[in-house]
Amino acid sequence: MNTRLHARLRGDFTFLCDCEFYVPDGWFVILYQAMQQISSRLSETSYDIRANVISVRRDASLSIGIECCDDEVDRIIENTELKAETACMVCGKLGKRREPNYMEVLCGKHQNVDGSVITEEQVDELIAAISGQGN
Ligand SMILES: [Zn+2]
Repeated sequence: MNTRLHARLRGDFTFLCDCEFYVPDGWFVILYQAMQQISSRLSETSYDIRANVISVRRDASLSIGIECCDDEVDRIIENTELKAETACMVCGKLGKRREPNYMEVLCGKHQNVDGSVITEEQVDELIAAISGQGN
């Protein structure tokens, strides 16, 4: 994951400070929104949380390694993993798993592009999306 996006996640959510990320940049927004939901849930409860690794499984699905004995947190995690199934790994827009190997989820624009290093401009766009400024 891009270092700025990574820093933003760790900086904004203290429970992620020991968590490792192996996540494509395009999933930043859904991941960030999920962490906001978990964070607000935790503030309402006394549940403890352990975040280990957030990564991509071999079949291109999102794996959120967060342990918490709260059903609501589990539900947020499940929904987020579900959302990632159709989110482009490069830009986050609607995409689908590519056949035949299902190793990537990509939108129409990115399915024919090699490499998935995003530009600083795209990083700005992702950060704007979570800030709700949309510039
Ligand atoms: Zn895309």
